[in-house]
Amino acid sequence: MTTTLPAYDEVVPRYEPVIGLETHVELGTNTKMFCGCPTDFGGAPNTRVCPVCLGLPGSLPVANRAAVEATIRIGLALSCSIAQWCRFARKNYYYPDMPKNFQISQYDEPLCVDGYLDVEVNGEPVRIGIERVHLEEDTGKTLHVGGATGRIHGATESLVDYNRAGIPLVEIVTKPIPGTGAMAPEVARAYVTELRDVLRSLGVSDVRMEEGSLRCDVNTSLNPPGEQWGTRTETKNVNSLRSVERAVRSEMIRQASVLDAGGRIVQETRHFHEETGDTTSGRSKETATDYRYFPEPDLVPIAPDPSWVAELKAELPELPRLHRRRLQQEWGLSDLDMQSILNAGAVELIEATIAAGATPAAARKWWLGELSRRANETGAELADIGATPGQVAELQGLVDAGKLTDKLARTVLEHVVAGEGSPAEIMAARNLEVVSDTGALTAAVDEAIAANPAIADKVRGGKVAAAGALVGAVMKTTRGQADAKTVRELILERLGAQG
Ligand SMILES: [Zn+2]
Repeated sequence: MTTTLPAYDEVVPRYEPVIGLETHVELGTNTKMFCGCPTDFGGAPNTRVCPVCLGLPGSLPVANRAAVEATIRIGLALSCSIAQWCRFARKNYYYPDMPKNFQISQYDEPLCVDGYLDVEVNGEPVRIGIERVHLEEDTGKTLHVGGATGRIHGATESLVDYNRAGIPLVEIVTKPIPGTGAMAPEVARAYVTELRDVLRSLGVSDVRMEEGSLRCDVNTSLNPPGEQWGTRTETKNVNSLRSVERAVRSEMIRQASVLDAGGRIVQETRHFHEETGDTTSGRSKETATDYRYFPEPDLVPIAPDPSWVAELKAELPELPRLHRRRLQQEWGLSDLDMQSILNAGAVELIEATIAAGATPAAARKWWLGELSRRANETGAELADIGATPGQVAELQGLVDAGKLTDKLARTVLEHVVAGEGSPAEIMAARNLEVVSDTGALTAAVDEAIAANPAIADKVRGGKVAAAGALVGAVMKTTRGQADAKTVRELILERLGAQG
């Protein structure tokens, strides 16, 4: 198809988007959902399996209490109601990496329902409704080898690894989100970001999108203003925050071009392509009836004791939004300042730097200044830049102790980022410490005075401003490693002038 796609700005006034997000989170439990197999990432293929997760005849599942607990905590953090009684359901479909030919999931009786998550987009609060949070098991993984792309097309063999089969998976489904207009892509991203932070604060998952422990499907539909919601598509497995935003944007543009041409949107799943940022058609979307759900006969219902749920609720940690608000107050920052820290993804780094001994102002200065600049240049995440909060605090400590000037500290930081060691080690190894030895400084000052007699005379005569040239000369001979203020004081003292 070679149709020219409309620009995003042209789409928005003519169509209203409705988005929705389904997020799968692999729980960080020690063992799988219905058996005792270990869950850690990696491991030789098919070494973390047993008759239950391989679906062998006669094996019986037993629900993992830690996974149920984690799911209830997620539900509570998202202000959901927790079911007092609910059941698992069999979702029947065939997939080579799903050995039982059904997935144990939840259908019409999810563990948590009807909650919300508040996010902020461009400083505006947006409340995202949560329809349900339910518990299920993950599938295994199929590997297509022999082809160029790793996809099934062109592959000579397909290999199945069941290590992941049966890992507890929580699915979090939003209610449809209308009314976000041009902000829809950013709202989608803000939601996943906030959700990830909530899950991390709960400690229920390592939420690594690149390893697939947090996976996102993005639903998008368009309708002309004031009309009924359109047919939606589901873009599968969008695996980075940036991609969530891009997937909504590109799907809005694609749907608008179809609708513009008088076409009809097909309800289907679509694949998102990281390289091009667009989506292509997957399979036509099954409806729930295709899965022939029925209550799982091998498992007892879950009936969480209300007092246990109340206990879990009371023990929830401070949620990220409140945590950020408290930090903003403690650090004495304006909304705008806090926003720039959030945008840079630097909250936790700054927090850890302060915990390691730096002042809020110093921690913020390094992470939003020098280190953000480097991250932007290299396209790296700030957290992966190569400097740790501890090193940044140590660097600032050296500045505070007068051992490094700001300029020297920036040089040291460059070497820290390059992986050469701690700031103190680098300062010593590269001889970057401020020259504070008064004898050496006095000699350099005398040398500068002797070399610039005319300027020295001016200073002696009361033109204190002329001392700048002498300071410059001393800084040059000390390779910028003297403290300019000390040098200036020393010059004025030697020339009997008053600062
Ligand atoms: Zn197992």
